[in-house]
Amino acid sequence: MMSDTVIKLHNTKTRRKEVFAPIDPDNVRMYVCGPTVYDRAHLGNARPVVVFDVLNRLLRETYGADHVTYARNFTDVDDKINKRAADSGRDISVITDETIQWFLDDMGSLGALEPDHMPRATQYIDQMIAMIEKLIVKGHAYAAEGHALFAVDSWKEGYGKLSGRSVDDMIAGARVEVAPYKRNPMDFVLWKPSTDDQPGWDSPWGRGRPGWHIECSAMADELLGKSFDIHGGGNDLMFPHHENEIAQSCCANGDDSFAKVWLHNEMLQVEGKKMSKSLGNFFTVRDLLEQGVPGEVIRFVFLSTHYRKPMDWTDKKAKEAQSILRKWYAQAEQALPGGTPDNYVLRTLADDINTHGVLAECHQYSHADDVVALRSSLELLGLMGDEVPSWASVPDVDLTLYEGRLTEARSIAMVTKDFSQVDSLKAAYIAAGLEVRMSKAGVELVPGPDFDAAKLEGLL
Ligand code: AMP
Ligand code: ZN
Repeated sequence: MMSDTVIKLHNTKTRRKEVFAPIDPDNVRMYVCGPTVYDRAHLGNARPVVVFDVLNRLLRETYGADHVTYARNFTDVDDKINKRAADSGRDISVITDETIQWFLDDMGSLGALEPDHMPRATQYIDQMIAMIEKLIVKGHAYAAEGHALFAVDSWKEGYGKLSGRSVDDMIAGARVEVAPYKRNPMDFVLWKPSTDDQPGWDSPWGRGRPGWHIECSAMADELLGKSFDIHGGGNDLMFPHHENEIAQSCCANGDDSFAKVWLHNEMLQVEGKKMSKSLGNFFTVRDLLEQGVPGEVIRFVFLSTHYRKPMDWTDKKAKEAQSILRKWYAQAEQALPGGTPDNYVLRTLADDINTHGVLAECHQYSHADDVVALRSSLELLGLMGDEVPSWASVPDVDLTLYEGRLTEARSIAMVTKDFSQVDSLKAAYIAAGLEVRMSKAGVELVPGPDFDAAKLEGLL
C-alpha cells in the first residue's frame, strides 16, 4: 500500500517543522532509543513506544510496509542492571531476558507493533570496539587508565548543536566531578574497566564494558547504515545521550552522516514532574493493566495529547477514553477491517503526528455514523485490530427489562411511600457499572466504562 501523503515532522536539529523527504523511499529507516532492562517499564517509558509506533504505522502506510525499517534497542549492560543482579543474587542474563519479555508483553498490550530490529547492546560489543578504535585513530578519542574517552574539544564545531549549547558554556557550567583521567571535564566515557565480578569483554584497553552512548551509534550503523532518516527518543535523552551519539557517529563516519531528522517526545508527568524511577513517582504499565485498565485505553489517552506536549495521566481521562472507545468499537464493528484510511485523516496524522486531530475526526465520523471511515482511522492509530476486545463488546443483555423493573418498583413506592426497593435496585445497577437516569418520563440505564452484565444476574 502506498499513498502520496506529505509527511511533516518537527526536527529538533533545525527547530522547525519540515517536509520529510527520505534518503531512500524504498527503505525508510528509523532508530529509537529503547529501555535499560532491569525492571518493569513505567508508564512514562511507554510514551515514546506509542508515539513512534504511530509514526512507524504512518511511514508503512505511506511508503509500504516492506519499505520501512524500524530499530529499537535494549540496553542490557548497565550499572543499574549489575546492581539489581548483585542485590537479588540472580544472574544478569536471567534479569535482562525476563525484563525484555515483560517489556514486549506490556508494549504489545498497548497495541505497539514490534520493531523490525530489536538489538541488544551485548550483541554488538565488537562493533562498539571497532568504532572506538576508529575514533582514536582519527584523534577524536583517547585511552587513559583502562578507559577510552571521547575528546569533546576535537569536535567543538559540532558538539552541542542538537541541544543548542556550546562546548565552552558547558565547561563553564559543568559541575561534574572531574575524573583524573579526563583531559576535559566534558569528555565522556566510551569504554570503562570492569572488576572481576562485573560483566566485561576483552578490548585494546583491557577487560571492560562500554559506556552507555556508544551502543546506539554502533547498532544504528550496523543495522541502518551511516546515514538514516529518523532518530527518536524522549527529550530527556537529548543531552547528553543524543549529543554524544551524534559526536561518536559523525566523527567516526563523517560530518554529514547519522540521522537527518531528530524527534523528541515530551515527558509524561506526575504533578508537574517527570515520571521517573529515580523520583519514585512512577507506576508501571503492568500495574494499570492489572487494575483492569485496557491497553487500548492507555494508548487512547496517550494519543489525545500531542507528543511534543507534556501530559499527565489521570483516572478521569482513562474513564472517558473507555466510554468513547466502547461506543466507537460498537460502530466500527459494522465495517470491514483493512480499509484504506481517508486522505483527510492521513493528512492530519502526517502533520507532525497530530494524533489528537485524528481523534477529533473520529468523533465526527462517529457522530455522522460513518462506520467505514471510523474503522480505518482507528486502525491507522493502532486502536483497533480485527476483533473488538472483550471488555468493549456490546453486552448481550436487554437493558429495557431492567429499566422496566425499576419503573415498576418506583410506581409501587409512590403508593406505599416505601422507597427501599427502589434504592436497593438503583444501588445494584450502579454497582454493575450502569448510570441510572430517572425522570418523570421514565428510567434510562446507560452502560458506563466499568459495566459488567454478569452483575445484573438475579435482579429481574
Ligand atoms: P530509560 O530506560 O530511562 O532510558 O528510558 C527509556 C525511554 O523512555 C527513553 O526514550 C526515555 O526518554 C523515555 N522516558 C523515560 N521517562 C519518561 C517519561 N516520564 N515520559 C516520557 N518518556 C519517558
Ligand atoms: Zn540511544
